[in-house]
Formats: sequence, structure tokens, C-alpha cells
Amino acid sequence: MNFRIFEGVWTTLTSAVLALGLGLALSIAQPATAKPLELRDLAIAGDSLKTRMLFSLDVEAEPKLMLLRSPHRLVIDLPEARFRFDEKALKPRGLITGIKYGPIGEGMSRIVVSAKGPFKIVDFNMLANEEKAGNRMVLDLEAASEQLFDAALAEQATSTGSTTPSLPKNAEGQTAQKAEKRFTVVIDPGHGGIDGGANGLSGTVEKDITLAFSRELRDQLAKVGDLDIILTRDGDQFLRLDERVRFAREKNADLFISIHADTIRLKGISGATVYTVSDRASDAASAALATRENLSDQLAGIKIEDEDHQIADILVDLIRRETHSFSMSFAKTLVGELKQSVTMINNPHRMAGFRVLRAPDVPSVLIELGYLSNESDEKHLLDSEWRSKAAKGIVDAVVQFAGPRIGSRG
Ligand SMILES: [Zn+2]
Repeated sequence: MNFRIFEGVWTTLTSAVLALGLGLALSIAQPATAKPLELRDLAIAGDSLKTRMLFSLDVEAEPKLMLLRSPHRLVIDLPEARFRFDEKALKPRGLITGIKYGPIGEGMSRIVVSAKGPFKIVDFNMLANEEKAGNRMVLDLEAASEQLFDAALAEQATSTGSTTPSLPKNAEGQTAQKAEKRFTVVIDPGHGGIDGGANGLSGTVEKDITLAFSRELRDQLAKVGDLDIILTRDGDQFLRLDERVRFAREKNADLFISIHADTIRLKGISGATVYTVSDRASDAASAALATRENLSDQLAGIKIEDEDHQIADILVDLIRRETHSFSMSFAKTLVGELKQSVTMINNPHRMAGFRVLRAPDVPSVLIELGYLSNESDEKHLLDSEWRSKAAKGIVDAVVQFAGPRIGSRG
């Protein structure tokens, strides 16, 4: 099972903080092919001595628990899950200083609960709801001594979830009724509202071009069928970069495509570029472009906060790595397809630190359709026929990337 690989990565990543042999017998409680669980309505109650956490699940599951220290944390591993948490409910309370969650690959999901200090798990139960369908996962934590926490760490075999093996049956029954989530593409027309983006030689405003193009792309993708396509904005409104990222994550997007058409000082450069995120830019021009794009938020007077607080760093690293390889693979396909329909710059797949591409769990690319500072590019961008040709190239790439999930058109 590939999980071994994951465990190796995990161990490497956490070895610095863990300093103890993590030969943990993590295992999956449910076949990876089953329909994802749905987790909702998390509630936290209590004080810094005793805290109860409550999750609601659509089906029964057997979570695996694991303790980590520096800081003191509880890891809850579940079969693949959709998290429908109310952000407000996630506010730290009592013993709990933070909750992060997300997929960790191999049909598994993870919740990481950070605590104020050493704690002990007083109770952990999976209970079937009496009045309505579904289950509750109840977790009681109590402040404890370092020694006690260390002892529990040493044992580390904490698994007190339900033992009723009824899940596979339930999951199967529900899979038959409910089809798998459709492949979802979120298209992000760059800029909007008070943030116009770049200005063309003849007065074209980037935010209008990106919206017109995104609508064209949406309409063409819609014809493919079997896809959900959503625009981050379908009008002239301002959206913060992190709102665009969050939007894609909330929609459980399988692909995020941000559309832009900027300017460049270098004359004579023209054509389309596909960008993926990287801390190290592939070249100076890409770095400069990312810096400019990342200023969008400041235009609206928003102070940029540095980091995505949603998920623990270790967790993010793991997911990001996997997502990044998908982004790279899509970018490659995209370049191959776009090349056939429009002019591209030299080395058309480039990298830089675009904030809008930072969703840890959604493969993301940013397409610069062309440069508004270039006369022929601007003409193309204003030409609906050209836009249709370019959109067609992107559609072909999406179909290839989605593969069997949208039939065998590729
Ligand atoms: Zn732009």
C-alpha cells in the first residue's frame, strides 16, 4: 500500500518536532474507493481545563487518533472526508488553540487539533443520532501533566472509535444513489472593481478582457458536459486574492485557472504564458509580474496577512507537494494545447510566487493571455474570434487533464 510512502514523508517532515520514533500503525478504516464522508457542525465547548469537541458525520467511521508534541496536538485521521465546517465554529476555545484539516492523499483526511498544553483524551465516541440520520463524533479533552501526556505518547495506540463494522455497507448503498462529484473547474477572471489591472495601449482595461475571456471559456467548457464550471466573479467586482483561493477550495475545485493579460516594459515580447506557483521565480520578468499581481489587494487598502492559517504547516507541505505536481502536469498539457492555437512567448511555462495560486489542495495555474502593452496582443485580446481559439486550447487541456472523470473525449 502506498501509504508507506506517505508515512515516510510524514516522518521526515515531523522528525524535527517529534524526536521520537513514529513507527505508528496508522491504517485506513475504510476502502479508499468509498464515497467521502461529510463532516459538519463542529462545536467546541468548555474551558482551558476541560473541552468537548463535537463533529457530525453522515456515516459512521473509525478514526485513528495520534498525539504529537511541540506543540501538543491531537491528530484525527479519517477516511477521505469533505469538511463542511462553519468557519466560526472553528474559533479556538477552551483547551484548543487551533484546528486544521484537509486531505492527506491515499483516500484519507486529517484533522489536527492544537492544544494549549499537555492534555489527555478523556472520552472519544462515535454515536448514532437518534432523531435524524448520521453520527456524532464526541471528543473530550482534559488538561493533563507533561508526564501523563508523555506516557500517552509512548503508548500511542489510542484508538477508541466505534467498532461496528457497518460502514462499508452504508457507504456502498449511498454511492449507488449519489453520483461522484463532478469535475469542477473554477475560472478566475483577474482583477475587477476598483482593481482594473493593466491598461492597454488603446485604453483596454485588463479586468474587462479577463472577464470576457473567462465567460467564453466557461461557455466552451459547458459544452463539454459532465463538468461544473464556476467563475470567481461574473461581474465587475473586486475580490481579494485570498477570497479567490478560498472560493476554489470551498467549491472543492479540481482545477483553478486564473486569467490575466498584463503589460510588460520590454518591447517586442508578445504571446501567452502559463504560470504555476513557486517560491523561486523562473526568471526576473516572472518575479516582477507576480509582485505586481500580488499588489491587487493593496489597491483596495487591504493589509496583506502572510499565510494561510487554515492548515498546519506540515499538513500543508504534504498536500501542496501533491497538488503542485498536478499543477505542473496541467501546465504542461496546457502549453501543448495552447501552442497549437495561439502565439506563446519563449519558454511559455514559467513560475513565480503568485498569491492567487496558493490553494494547497487545488491544482492551479495562471494564464497570461498576452500583453496589453503589445499592439498585436492587444488586438488579439479584443478579438472575440481569437479569444474563442485560445479558449478552445484551454478546453482541450482541461479535458485531457480530467481524463476519465469526464468521459473519454481526450
Ligand atoms: Zn493581471
